[in-house]
Amino acid sequence: MSSPLHHETLAALSAKLENRTLTSVELMQTFIERTRAVDGRVGAFNSFDADDALEQARASDARRAAGQARGPLDGIPIGLKDVIAVEGQPLTASSKILANFVSPYDGTVARKLKEAGAICWGRLNLDEFAMGSSTENSGTHVTRNPWDLERVPGGSSGGSAAALAAGAAAAALGSDTGGSIRQPAALCNLVGLKPTYGLVSRYGLIAYASSLDQIGPFGRTVEDAAMVLQAIAGHDPLDSTSFRTEIPDYRAELGRRKGPWKIGIPKEYFGEGLDPEVSAAVQAAVGHYRGLGCEIAEVSLPHTKYAVGSYYIIATAECSSNLARFDGIRYGHRSAKASDIVDLYFQSRAEGFGPEVKRRIILGTYVLSSGYYDAYYLRAQKVRTLIRGDFLKAYEKVDAILTPTSPTPAFKIGEKAADPLAMYLSDIYTIGVNLAGLPGMSVPCGFTKAGLPIGLQLIGKPFEEAELLAIAQAYETAHPWYQRFPKLD
Ligand code: GLN
Repeated sequence: MSSPLHHETLAALSAKLENRTLTSVELMQTFIERTRAVDGRVGAFNSFDADDALEQARASDARRAAGQARGPLDGIPIGLKDVIAVEGQPLTASSKILANFVSPYDGTVARKLKEAGAICWGRLNLDEFAMGSSTENSGTHVTRNPWDLERVPGGSSGGSAAALAAGAAAAALGSDTGGSIRQPAALCNLVGLKPTYGLVSRYGLIAYASSLDQIGPFGRTVEDAAMVLQAIAGHDPLDSTSFRTEIPDYRAELGRRKGPWKIGIPKEYFGEGLDPEVSAAVQAAVGHYRGLGCEIAEVSLPHTKYAVGSYYIIATAECSSNLARFDGIRYGHRSAKASDIVDLYFQSRAEGFGPEVKRRIILGTYVLSSGYYDAYYLRAQKVRTLIRGDFLKAYEKVDAILTPTSPTPAFKIGEKAADPLAMYLSDIYTIGVNLAGLPGMSVPCGFTKAGLPIGLQLIGKPFEEAELLAIAQAYETAHPWYQRFPKLD
């Protein structure tokens, strides 16, 4: 089956560049035209610089002509969530407080993409400072789901997911603190991978909750995600939480690892609140693995019911500290109304931050305040240890854990906007993975009767991304849902 160029897999585009049936300039032109044609309706981008992207594409073509292509990503446009620093490009976190900020340096992932010859394409919308699950909390505009423009693309990396689903980039980067790569991937029929904490450098990522944040790839396929992960993974002295570990050849490993695997199904993840169509699709995927000869075992993650509660203590505590730097003094929005220095802090923050960010700073400040620290923050940290322990215990029996990614398909814009708790619950299956520091990915797993994408979550052992990708591909090969595209034309 042939698809339009803008919907082709990264692997296929890379092969076309390699065998000279396509130039990087032609490819970049295609994505620029596509973005201009659809983004007025989708709203995935905060901004893009077509001239700069074309210049990078010309440089890639020149390298290839000289026999110096830097590898499989050379000449490929990859979209970046607007929390990842790229030198000379806007860096706003979709917040008014950074509305006019331009990054003076490259974050490590941007530097690595550039070293691989990829084109850092566009600044993609998100929930302000990555706080949200729908991209409705953006301080710029709401992003729409290309599969149904009345619905959310998920979040917080909704712009990254929507851009890729709409055919406006060949792959994208997002960040995932509690599900922000996996949940939008599920809602937009994409593969999304949150790496093990420490695999990908956070240097140059605007911090939300530093002990949970990880950057990771969105791809159309498992192979595409593996190719992008290859470029960005690895130790970085500029991030003190970056881990020293050998980075395998993820793409090559895909062909080598064939199973059969032992797959765990946590009983706590299939209860109340799970949409029946999502449940049926995920159960069908379990049946597929069984058919491949995998052993399916029920496992228990007994502290799951405390995951959302402890997450919203830890994440808000860290965000209240991380966001203290936005004070109107060194960079970002400065209030024109302030009467003195203290008032300048107050006014600049009051004008610059949106309501969800303020809610979280207040919550985080409260749980860290003296007298409450032990009751909330310390206790949440202890629960976090128990949650990680649950997973590690399960891994004594199984190689990977299979769950739904999101309890529901994409919901309507506005449906949960007035109810923060309902919104927080949309991350119920993804948050434990961040608390435990594990790798997790979402893989397309079918569609509802109404035509909305469904995602399957696979959770792996620490730093076992190669195995996780292979397990995911064993499903994808038999169920190539990625060959379906939204009807935007
Ligand atoms: N929805 C979760 C939150 O609002 C997770 C967001 C994320 O992963 N960045 O915190």
